[in-house]
Amino acid sequence: MKEILKKLENEPEFAQAVREVLESIQPVIDRDPECKHLKIIERIIEPERVIIFRVTWVDDQGNVQINRGFRIQMNSAIGPYKGGLRFHPSVNLSILKFLAFEQVFKNALTTLPLGGGKGGSDFNPKGKSDGEVMRFCQAFMSELFRHIGPNTDVPAGDIGVGGREIGYLFGMYKKLRNEFSGVLTGKALNWGGSLIRPEATGYGCIYFAEEMLKTRKKSIKGKTCLISGSGNVAFFAAEKIIELGGKVVTFSDSSGYVYDGDGFTKEKLEFVKNLKFVRRGRISEYAEKYGVKYTPVDPSLGYNPLWNEKADCAFPCATQNEINAKDAANLIKNGVFLVAEGANMPTVPEGIEIFLENKILYGPGKAANAGGVAVSGLEMTQNSMRLNWSREQVDKELQRIMRDIHTACINAAKEYGTPGNYVNGANIAGFKKVADAMKDQGII
Ligand code: NDP
Repeated sequence: MKEILKKLENEPEFAQAVREVLESIQPVIDRDPECKHLKIIERIIEPERVIIFRVTWVDDQGNVQINRGFRIQMNSAIGPYKGGLRFHPSVNLSILKFLAFEQVFKNALTTLPLGGGKGGSDFNPKGKSDGEVMRFCQAFMSELFRHIGPNTDVPAGDIGVGGREIGYLFGMYKKLRNEFSGVLTGKALNWGGSLIRPEATGYGCIYFAEEMLKTRKKSIKGKTCLISGSGNVAFFAAEKIIELGGKVVTFSDSSGYVYDGDGFTKEKLEFVKNLKFVRRGRISEYAEKYGVKYTPVDPSLGYNPLWNEKADCAFPCATQNEINAKDAANLIKNGVFLVAEGANMPTVPEGIEIFLENKILYGPGKAANAGGVAVSGLEMTQNSMRLNWSREQVDKELQRIMRDIHTACINAAKEYGTPGNYVNGANIAGFKKVADAMKDQGII
C-alpha cells in the first residue's frame, strides 16, 4: 500500500480516497490470492483514460476566457462510465480522480450496470450571466462530445452543474452528433429526463439514514437535523426529512450558515428553493428574511460552528473534507448519533475514526448518496425503452435500491468481521463486484 500511495503524493484527495478503500479491502485481498496475482488493486486505481482539454469562450464584455476541461474515465468493468460533471474553481485532477474512484464503488453498489467516471472544469458559474454559462457549456461540449456516448460514457450534474447546464450541454451534443440520445442524465422532464432525478440524491440519503436508524429501532421522526450546503443534495435531503417528521435547523453555503431553531417548514423551503435555484442568491438572505442567526465562515476558527450546534443527526451535503477531527468531536459532544453523507468524502480520515470509535451510525457517501446515480441509471433505462415511468414507480425503485445498498453494506461488514461498519461494508461490497468483473474480462 505504501508504494501505491507514494505514487499519489501529488494528488492528496485521490490518495485519501484510495487509502480508505485499500484499508477496508485488505481482508478481501488476504482471502483471494488471484486479486493480488492479477494486480486488481494496481489496475483499479489507474484510470482507463484521462482527457484534459482547453475550453475557450467569450464573456459578455467580449473578452476571451480560457478554462480547463476534464473527463476521467475510471473503470468500465460493469458498464459505461457514469458520473457527474463539476464546475467549480477548485476543480483539478486530484479532486476529479478521487470523485471518479469513489464513483466506481458507488455505482457497483447500486446493483445497476454502471461503470465509474467524473469530469468537470475550473470554470466558476457564480456571477456569470445565462449567456456566459451557455457559451461555456457549448465550448466544453465541443470537445467532450467525441469522448462520450450513451453506451460509452454518460455524464450528469454535480457541484455547479444543474438542470440549466445539462440543458446547454445536451443541446450542443445533439447538434454536433445529429442524434437525440440518453447521453446525459439529469435532463428536463419534457425532453428525456426522469421524475425524481433532481430529488434522488437527497431523498436517497434520507432513505439510507432511515435504514441505519431501523437497526437501532429508531426513525428520523422527531429528530433534530443539521444540514450543510443549500444546493441540490442539501435541499432535497431537507425536504424528505421534513416530510418524514424530522426537524431541519441549518443550511449553509460557502459564505456561512443559517440556524433556524424553529425548524424549516415547507413554506420556508420554498423561499430557499427560489433563493438558491432561481435567484442564485446567498443563504444569508434567509437570515435577513426570517430574523434568524447567520454565522459567516471564519477559517481562523479551525472548525465549522455549524457542526457545533445541538442535534441528533447530521447530513453533510456541501463538499469534500468539510468535517475535520474537531468538527467530528463536536458533533459527538453535542449528541449527534447519526451522520449520513450526502456529499462525497465530506469527512477527513481522522473524523471518520472518531465516528467509528464512538460507534455512531455513520453512512459514508459512496453508500448514502448513491441514490442520485441510481436514478440516473433508471433515467438511462427509460431513455433506452423510450418510456417515462411515474413518480411513484421511480421513488419505489429508489427506496428499494437504498435498502439493497444498506443490506449489502451490513452483510459485507459482517462477513469480514466488522459488523456495523458501513465504511468497510460499502468498500468491500463495491470492490468485490468490480474486481470479479475485471477478472472475468481478462488482462486489459
Ligand atoms: P450544488 O452545486 O447544487 O450545491 C453545492 C452546495 O455546497 C452549495 O450550497 C455550495 O455553496 C456548497 N459548497 C460547494 N463548495 C463549497 C466549499 N468549498 N465550501 C463550502 N460550501 C461549499 O451541488 P450538489 O448539491 O449537487 O453537490 C453537493 C455534494 O453532493 C458534492 O459533494 C457532490 O459531489 C455530492 N453529490 C451530488 C450528487 C448529485 O446528484 N448532485 C450525487 C452524489 C453526490 P456555494 O453556492 O456558496 O458554492
